[in-house]
Amino acid sequence: MAVGGSRGLIRISKNPACELQAALAVRGVKEKDFYERYTGEPFPGEYGERQSARRRGTMFEQNLHKDGASVLRKALASSFGQAAAGMSVLNFDEEIPGTNRKARLARRDKTLQFIERLAQDDLSVPALLIQPVLPLSVTETGVHYLVPDFLLLDTEERIYVPGEEKSFIVRDNVVDRADMDGARRQAGAQVVGLRQAANRHGIGARVRNRAVFVFASPYGLSPARPVQESIDAEVHEIEHALRTARIVAERLATLPADKGLETVADQYQRHFTDECVRSCVLSDVCARECGTSARLLGDSAADLIGAETPIERVYELMQGLEPTNERERQVAPRLVMLSGVMQDLGV
Ligand code: SF4
Repeated sequence: MAVGGSRGLIRISKNPACELQAALAVRGVKEKDFYERYTGEPFPGEYGERQSARRRGTMFEQNLHKDGASVLRKALASSFGQAAAGMSVLNFDEEIPGTNRKARLARRDKTLQFIERLAQDDLSVPALLIQPVLPLSVTETGVHYLVPDFLLLDTEERIYVPGEEKSFIVRDNVVDRADMDGARRQAGAQVVGLRQAANRHGIGARVRNRAVFVFASPYGLSPARPVQESIDAEVHEIEHALRTARIVAERLATLPADKGLETVADQYQRHFTDECVRSCVLSDVCARECGTSARLLGDSAADLIGAETPIERVYELMQGLEPTNERERQVAPRLVMLSGVMQDLGV
């Protein structure tokens, strides 16, 4: 069983308490297909990355990798002080072309060989690996293959550092928060995969929670100055997502392959949060199903009042009705105050 792409793992990491979302990812079910089978209705709205964004991303990467990755090497050298001309490069797209299973496994084997050589302190490995493949064990038998945009050798620490290339534009050293979040979680999964590989040779401790990011400058396809960032939180969240995926995978193992997930979906716990609206195609379905509880009012309200408190009761407390338990006694004055503010604002 394999988690459906690092995209699935990233989704789980944003809301690891939702078993249904994890089941979709572990089973490799396309969210849009699930939505349509579960609700019996066509999915309303756009789904997936827009073609124009994907095209720009591809062009950005191609520009970085052309001519022996000269643009990427120059950009990295500007930040990390390595002589761009002397940086040895192995571009897997050229060395082992193709995206089929055979090519993927061949890329994985070669990537792992370089890590094994680093464990023997052999620093003659390529300084820059483009489109390598790292296996990430999700379950005992399930492996997912991660493809970092590049791995950059840190010669002092004798280990590679994952690198992500994104065509998001950096303005005044700032990248859109949502874009950055996705890139950091992707890199977090790569750190976990790299550490698993390094651990097999006893050098897992060399892998730190960090990644290099290469974003676009506002000038065409030129890269902005690459940055190396600590990604402790994202690595932690990906590890949490892996734990959830393993638990859900055990339960899914009892579901026959020809039986759709929609037939047992209601047996998987959901956890509706603010994040659902931003990142899950089922958000309107789940919102409808928890439509009478305070969970629908968002994370802060759910934490304050109790996620399962009926919305009707929240309104009663706002209108000054007598609290009936300790939690209501604690939040009632704030709800009354909120009601006053809303009246002042004419809401
Ligand atoms: S919208 Fe529903 S299925 Fe999706 S993450 Fe939220 S609770 Fe889970």
